[in-house]
Amino acid sequence: MSTPVLEISRAAFRANIAAVRARLDGSQLMLVMKDDAYGHGIEWAVAEAEAGGVSWFGSYDVPTALRIRAVTAQRVYAWAPSTGPEIDAAIGAGVELGVGSMEYLHAVIAAAERLGARVAVHLKIDTGLHRNGFRPEAWADAVAVARDAEARGSIRIVGVWSHLAEASDEEDDAAQEVFLDAVRILQNAGGEPEVLHLTASAAAWWRPELRGTLSRIGAFCYGIRSAEGPQLEGLSLISRLVATVDAMEGELVRIGVGAFHGLPSILRGAEVATPAGLRTIVRIDGDSTLVEGWPGAQEGDRVVVFGPGADGESDATALAERIDTVGEEILTRLTPAVRRELAD
Ligand SMILES: *Cc1c(COP(=O)(O)O)cnc(C)c1O
Repeated sequence: MSTPVLEISRAAFRANIAAVRARLDGSQLMLVMKDDAYGHGIEWAVAEAEAGGVSWFGSYDVPTALRIRAVTAQRVYAWAPSTGPEIDAAIGAGVELGVGSMEYLHAVIAAAERLGARVAVHLKIDTGLHRNGFRPEAWADAVAVARDAEARGSIRIVGVWSHLAEASDEEDDAAQEVFLDAVRILQNAGGEPEVLHLTASAAAWWRPELRGTLSRIGAFCYGIRSAEGPQLEGLSLISRLVATVDAMEGELVRIGVGAFHGLPSILRGAEVATPAGLRTIVRIDGDSTLVEGWPGAQEGDRVVVFGPGADGESDATALAERIDTVGEEILTRLTPAVRRELAD
């Protein structure tokens, strides 16, 4: 069996970052790198983004933040609550921490005091998602504890942040009001947050009035459009999943990518791009997939499962829409058995 390849275009990534930065119009870009940079690999992406002027990198967890820190001196932010040794490692590496609960706030302050460090903290207000974040009624207490620690020199409150549901404009507007109230409460308590961040890809792109001074963006930088959303001007998917024809089986061909590589087996019926044009997936097996054949099909022919250069149902989001998920999931499910190949 041949090995499937995710071909990644550095040039497309650079162009997306430039387009996103232009669109943000002054709000700074924090490039979100969770899930191994949405399946594309962190190290090269940090280097490329940094060359393109990106000065903030965001990750969900601390281990990913440490991987980012290993290749850049720019600002690195981890927003998921973490525990003991990881908090210490983050502090040691100068990773900034998102804090959205009293328990975590106390843990971060205690670690900072033990290590004699001054930790950059971004306080999270829960604006409605209920995923972590201080509830509005608990915000004043959080601010009091954080300001007290700031006065002692163990933390620095560098940001206020939240995450939007992006389900409706009305909900997002209401979330912004809660967010701005929280910022005012912090400011009235003498806090001077340097950055305010509320928006991810879709809201930052479509709702400029919601943007703070910093926008945490993943999907659009990798060219992954929103499910049921339009193609975005100036952005393109940076990767292409390519499999090779391994065998002809009657009217069908067998290509070297399958469910074990992370291709959802319920994608049967989707179209892939062959040298003869689009053909339908007939069945997805463990390590291979059966596709409708074409005249003259040969072993070694390239088949593009998704990605630029293939027409039709060709971006990761189009595949995702078929099975009611998002483009990110198609990419992040791809296992390490899919070889990542970087091109310029
Ligand atoms: C994933 C995530 C982002 C980035 O979202 P995109 O839609 O990929 O831009 C931003 N902030 C948080 C908290 C996230 O979990």
